[in-house]
Amino acid sequence: MEHNKNEILRKFPSVYEILENKDVEPLNKTFPYNFIKERLNVLMKQEKDNVLNLSNSEAENIDEERFKVECFVSKLKDDLNNFSFSLKRVINGTGVVIHTNLGRSILQERAVKNVAEISSSYSNLEFNLTEGKRGKRYSHVEYLLQKILGCERAIVVNNNAAAVFMALSSFCAGQKKEVIVSRGELIEIGGSFRIPDIMKASGAALVEVGTTNKTKPADYEQNTNENTALLLKVHHSNFKMRGFVSELSSKDIVSIGKNRHIPVMEDLGSGSFVNIERFGLPHEPTVQEVVNAGVDIITFSGDKLLGGPQAGIIVGKKEYVDLIASNPLTRAFRIDKMTLAALEAILFEYLDLETAMKRIPTLFFLSQSNKDIKKRAFRLLNKIKKLECVNKNIYNFKVLEDLSIVGGGALPDYELKTYSLSITHKTLSANKLSQIFRSARVPIIGKIKNEEFLIDIRTVLERDFKDIIQALKSISDQKYEYF
Ligand SMILES: *Cc1c(COP(=O)(O)O)cnc(C)c1O
Repeated sequence: MEHNKNEILRKFPSVYEILENKDVEPLNKTFPYNFIKERLNVLMKQEKDNVLNLSNSEAENIDEERFKVECFVSKLKDDLNNFSFSLKRVINGTGVVIHTNLGRSILQERAVKNVAEISSSYSNLEFNLTEGKRGKRYSHVEYLLQKILGCERAIVVNNNAAAVFMALSSFCAGQKKEVIVSRGELIEIGGSFRIPDIMKASGAALVEVGTTNKTKPADYEQNTNENTALLLKVHHSNFKMRGFVSELSSKDIVSIGKNRHIPVMEDLGSGSFVNIERFGLPHEPTVQEVVNAGVDIITFSGDKLLGGPQAGIIVGKKEYVDLIASNPLTRAFRIDKMTLAALEAILFEYLDLETAMKRIPTLFFLSQSNKDIKKRAFRLLNKIKKLECVNKNIYNFKVLEDLSIVGGGALPDYELKTYSLSITHKTLSANKLSQIFRSARVPIIGKIKNEEFLIDIRTVLERDFKDIIQALKSISDQKYEYF
């Protein structure tokens, strides 16, 4: 009875009949015509396959209403309603505050508004409004960095990896100059950022001194010579050494550098402006402390503990930052106006450290009290308990005590007390649940501990609740294979 199925297929409207329908017309305002056509072709192919897969008796009894133009139009509209770009918002239920794979820091509202305004119009990006001539793109953030940090000069580039590379290259490229680093600081950050490799690529000759666990002043002193361009200190970032260890403080290295007239550079990595001991975390040197220690060149990220956009910030003494700024690589690593717009707004918040802690999301996530996280977790749990569509006999929800981490290479061995929403299912594994939540319209990325799927509430905002609820609603509509 293939004949019968082909007959059904012949009743399908043509693609153009559907595309010319008056209800499809408005979609052209939102979607490129070719995309609408492509989606429609996919939907029609699916429907054709459905027909071809019917049994003969099903084919006999098919309701032909579903092949009407209106039905395809409504399917097409639903399909396009679910459209999302490849790069999309997700809910961070991992509790990792600075999660590189999930975009690190989220931007504060005012910074977002500034980005929208600056990027949707012309701006004075490189134009001096007073003098009516060419200006400097760094000027828009340099004045704030000088105010907050008390540094002489500042420039910003694409990210901290670029900042370190550029700084090293400015001092060493083509000159066979040496840079002294402690063996305990020859780190790999991940994403192929390894200090020895970066050095090599920048043209700096690496001089390793000391041992893995101990580096002493004499190790630096005995290895300096007329070819030494820099003494470099690198933040350990994502690992911790314990036991029989010692290394020089920024101040110690600065005093060696001063005696020998060799500039000192420190790659701070996360670079916080606030003392994170206030959040109950162990001490990490702030950028201000390192500036005050007299370090000549300091580099750090914009989107780690600072809580801003992706950027590499270089601050320090005028003479050296000028040298770096004149490196042709600054053009290659040039920071974009959207980033500058975000960074200026974020740095502006740091004019008052107290309010900055509440208003910059990354700092808020770190500083919120355990009690507040618990309250938020129970608010979400109560909303879920009220949902009628979710079968509470197969799904089980509860709030439990948990631990989150800072991420972004800061405090690798430190955990913060938190509360998580635990979701378990009678038959589905935690892995399967995690996959299901990842495929939600707004994907929810959680963690798995003890065979439970967990959503850590530390990094979940109140405004995310409705999307979690929505995900649960649509999940409960679907039938998953039981295994
Ligand atoms: C994270 C980090 C970097 C790289 O910074 P990006 O902003 O990711 O390019 C370099 N050095 C240290 C010590 C870091 O922690």
